Amino acid sequence: MQARNVEKVYPNGCHALKQVSLDINRGEVVVIIGPSGSGKSTFLRTLNQLETISDGTIHIDDISLTDRKTNINKVREEVGMVFQSFNLFPHKTALGNVALSPIKVKKKTRDVAETEGRELLKKVGLAERMNNYPSHLSGGQQQRVAIARALAMHPKIMLFDEPTSALDPEMVGEVLDVMKSLAGDGMTMVVVTHEMGFAREVADRVVFMEEGELVFEESPDRFFESD
Ligand code: ADP
Ligand code: ADP
Repeated sequence: MQARNVEKVYPNGCHALKQVSLDINRGEVVVIIGPSGSGKSTFLRTLNQLETISDGTIHIDDISLTDRKTNINKVREEVGMVFQSFNLFPHKTALGNVALSPIKVKKKTRDVAETEGRELLKKVGLAERMNNYPSHLSGGQQQRVAIARALAMHPKIMLFDEPTSALDPEMVGEVLDVMKSLAGDGMTMVVVTHEMGFAREVADRVVFMEEGELVFEESPDRFFESD
């Protein structure tokens, strides 16, 4: 993933991103930190075209997000996103949530989508909960379903926007463990989080944003070293 000189000005005039440039190599885990309102969430959303940018360029491998000819659905297939609020479909079971996009977007048969979905739900530790509706899952379980749902599209890169911020403290660990295991599998990940333990342990690089600018990036070892 390569972002170059990305600018975002919202319609109300808010200048949320200023000359943000960032390269992320395949298999790298980048953690973005910074105060509230510094543009972290805006930047993540530009990476899957939930937000258009005002200037600059973004590429995911050979796909240009800024070329008008690029199919937005293609981008959404390549870029998985997990939000603070789990955003599951309430009327579908865990498995139904995970199988939905492969059926609708990738045109897989229900059988194939559900077989893959079961594997993914096992991977996130929900083998026993596949047929539960979201209202019968804890927050941590719902977030793990959301991760499995994003993975079902076989994305090239996964974006996490404060994935544990809405969870009760006792559920944070189970979601971070799933994210750690994804990182261990070599998934390319961009994570906005306040979980410094995760950053220290899992990140290849820590990026700090302030007032719409990317002010510095560093290895976790340097970032967390005490002086
Ligand atoms: P962070 O994720 O670091 O908290 P955000 O990306 O949410 O920061 O916000 C960056 C700035 O952009 C803030 O000043 C925020 O108020 C503003 N902003 C975010 N979303 C919108 C929007 N949809 N319209 C206008 N301004 C927005
Ligand atoms: P986050 O930082 O997790 O995105 P926020 O509370 O900053 O959470 O934003 C929640 C939602 O409100 C987002 O969809 C964001 O785009 C929108 N938003 C944030 N600031 C503004 C703003 N100044 N004007 C309009 N929408 C905003």
